[in-house]
Amino acid sequence: MSDHNFLSNLNEQQYKAVVSPASSLQILAGPGSGKTRVLTTRAAWLVLEKKIDPERIMVVTFTNKAARDMKEKLEQPTLLGKRVSSQLKMGTFHSICACIVRRYYSFVGLKSNFTIVEPATCLKLNSANLRRMPKKRVYMFDLPICSFKGVYHRFVGYFYSEISKAKNQGLKCAEFAATRGKEFKYRDIAVLYSAYEERLLSQNLVDFDNLLLYGRDLFRYVTELENFVGHVLVDEFQDTNVVQYDLVCLLTQKGQSLTIVGDPDQAIFGWRYADVTNFIKMRSDFPQTEIVNLERNYRSTSSILNSALHVVSYDKDRIEKALFTTNAEGVQTSLLSTSSAETEAGTVAEEILRIVKYSNGLISYKDIAVLVRMNFMSRNLEQAFAALSLPHIVLGGLRFFERAEVKDILSYLSFFHNPYDTEALERIINAPKRGIGEVTLQRIQKLCHERKAEAIDILKAICGITKPSEPCDVVISAAAKNGLKRLLNLCTEVQTMLKEKQTIADIIKHIVSSLEYEQYLKLSYKQDWESRWENIGELVTVAKSFASGSQTHTVPALSTDTSDLLVQFLESTTLDVDRKEHEEASEGKVTIATMHTAKGLEWPVVFVVGCEEGIVPHQKADTKEESRLLYVAMTRPRCFLYCTYARVRTVWGNTKASDLTRFLSNLSPDFYQERTPPWDAKVRTWVAGLLNRPLPEESGNLEHPGDYYPVLSEDNK
Ligand code: ATP
Ligand code: MG
Repeated sequence: MSDHNFLSNLNEQQYKAVVSPASSLQILAGPGSGKTRVLTTRAAWLVLEKKIDPERIMVVTFTNKAARDMKEKLEQPTLLGKRVSSQLKMGTFHSICACIVRRYYSFVGLKSNFTIVEPATCLKLNSANLRRMPKKRVYMFDLPICSFKGVYHRFVGYFYSEISKAKNQGLKCAEFAATRGKEFKYRDIAVLYSAYEERLLSQNLVDFDNLLLYGRDLFRYVTELENFVGHVLVDEFQDTNVVQYDLVCLLTQKGQSLTIVGDPDQAIFGWRYADVTNFIKMRSDFPQTEIVNLERNYRSTSSILNSALHVVSYDKDRIEKALFTTNAEGVQTSLLSTSSAETEAGTVAEEILRIVKYSNGLISYKDIAVLVRMNFMSRNLEQAFAALSLPHIVLGGLRFFERAEVKDILSYLSFFHNPYDTEALERIINAPKRGIGEVTLQRIQKLCHERKAEAIDILKAICGITKPSEPCDVVISAAAKNGLKRLLNLCTEVQTMLKEKQTIADIIKHIVSSLEYEQYLKLSYKQDWESRWENIGELVTVAKSFASGSQTHTVPALSTDTSDLLVQFLESTTLDVDRKEHEEASEGKVTIATMHTAKGLEWPVVFVVGCEEGIVPHQKADTKEESRLLYVAMTRPRCFLYCTYARVRTVWGNTKASDLTRFLSNLSPDFYQERTPPWDAKVRTWVAGLLNRPLPEESGNLEHPGDYYPVLSEDNK
């Protein structure tokens, strides 16, 4: 082995993978086997041992959080240190493409100040298009939906998801129209798809799907991008879709080296058109591919692993692979039955308090996660946690950056940066009130659209500040005109501040004070204006910390101009939307997350709630994929796994009795207990060992037998 210390804590298989000379390498292995660790170490090995310029290495992660975690590890002095690791190109497919599109925006028909928009805005754009379709035209499931007059908006989700599906399959609008658009079933989707693209372009907007499609076009057609990097490393490869696979191939088109890690048993994004056959495709596209398997799990106790493996074995067609651990056996999975979803949430909350108390400082709130199948299930948990004053954050819930007041201020920034964005204008025009009615707003939006003009120019014309070549026949009151003039002044002021390179935090403060935004909140939200106002304060703090360089640079690092920083800041609020929540959790809060967002992460303690038929497997989902999803959730904990279930749950207003999920119903009694784990000095010893934390000194009576929550006993059936 090498004398480099950083390679000494790898097992033989991991070492083989890290130092493999193969130019195409697949590392296939189960959860917790160190795939992500191998990928990180291989990046370090390329720099330290192979003397590769870090700028020539690209590491693609599934989430921005994963990129940050990886970067943190690489920043250690024993690995690359801060300076060198900041030169690596790291990020998600989306953030990498965003940087490329920022550089070559004009090649794809955008203006330099384009805005990346989140799905909520995309839905609104589609809704506007749907409303404009000729009444007798729009068909869904072979039914003319014009017969449901006035309820077009209810169907917008269907149309938008069909458009997004086409994009995820790599079909751009013209291609879609030329192929599927001829079929009766798809012809309306094709029309809406094209109208949607037109709307995005005219407002200088890019949705998440287009980031990837534009990125693919650029890597395909821009010659200087052919040799963009020399080494590509991809984590969570099982969840790449067609477009992402194309991107991987384009990035390595000149024979660059490719390393991917993944686990077909953890493929959980089929519903978002991820294609697990990409493993096989890669082997045929890169015939020299070397395959390495890792078999030892370092993350969990053997008890946790046993119960999780039972769940994934539900899919009888899967290729079985070895996965073992030499970790402590730990305690059996706690499979707990509760009378209702509310009781379930209360039980989880109380158990968290018990763990924190009896672990004697070994386990704190940040070490605990509660995983749900669907977002709505977090509500009961939040209530129960609030009742016991348990600090927590919800990943995938209403995020900080999506809160109305935060979004208002971000939209001001966004609009001043990209004045074509009439969606942002719509959000800010009456926050605070400026007396612009719905009809006037629509008229303004229409004018911008028709004339392909910046909304700022149209507003100036309406206020009589400039004289357009064609008149803008929009009549507004004197008060509204004054309001608009103040908005235009603010825009000029902010643009000057940007030119003067003032900080984003100062710009936000200026916007807030000139809008008298605190007063607006007081008048509009009598109940909770103070906490909303505090959120604005927090936004200023976030902007400050952003400027001080705590962000993960992806590709390629932009300069530190304020306007570039503003772009990065705005981008981080859409592409890295959970960032703030992750930070808060690491500072000492319980994480409530969906099973999907938990992918790749680990915690000492994990509760998987709602282990019921109809929840997981969800009735509309593919059952095998659902078994993999539960497997992913159950392989997140290191020491303690709880699977809870409510005998009665209310969904869509219907209260129904529920059965334990089929995936757990015939779990061997050797692998579970119907109680919460007991705590004593012996338990604390193995927990400390597994977590590699110092064993706290024993003090007081910290023994507890655990409580009983029978699942399968006769009286519950
Ligand atoms: P997943 O499939 O869930 O993404 P993974 O295969 O990527 O899991 P990692 O997250 O890389 O696994 O590793 C799981 C845990 O095991 C981490 O805490 C990691 O630090 C630890 N680990 C991995 N390899 C070793 C090793 N050789 N020695 C000690 N700890 C290790
Ligand atoms: Mg991983």
